[in-house]
Amino acid sequence: MRKTKVTLTQIIKSAIDEQMAQKHITVYRNYFNIGDQDVPLCEVCGSHNGTEIRHIHSRRHVSFKHNDKTYSTNDIKNLIGLCRKCHILAHSNEHSKEFLMFAHKQKMAGLPFQHRTR
Ligand SMILES: [Zn+2]
Repeated sequence: MRKTKVTLTQIIKSAIDEQMAQKHITVYRNYFNIGDQDVPLCEVCGSHNGTEIRHIHSRRHVSFKHNDKTYSTNDIKNLIGLCRKCHILAHSNEHSKEFLMFAHKQKMAGLPFQHRTR
């Protein structure tokens, strides 16, 4: 069997890709002061269940517009902690982007927000 040769350039490139893919998590954890071992809370329903940091506006885009301003998709305004269930609801658009932006805005303002999900 032929060995696949991995070049240094490829190693560096994948390390950078990995870092870019994780950048939003670092931004979110730093902003809300969440330790590496702590699981963030879902900003919509308050659950810990599989909560991960998600982009409200997809990271396939570099930036998004909100209130006539342009933000990077890794801007804290665009990052939300969502549990597995709410993440699925966001993908099926039952939790619209507007709804998620509102829930996240409440969190950023330090205001309580808890929405019941089925
Ligand atoms: Zn949730």
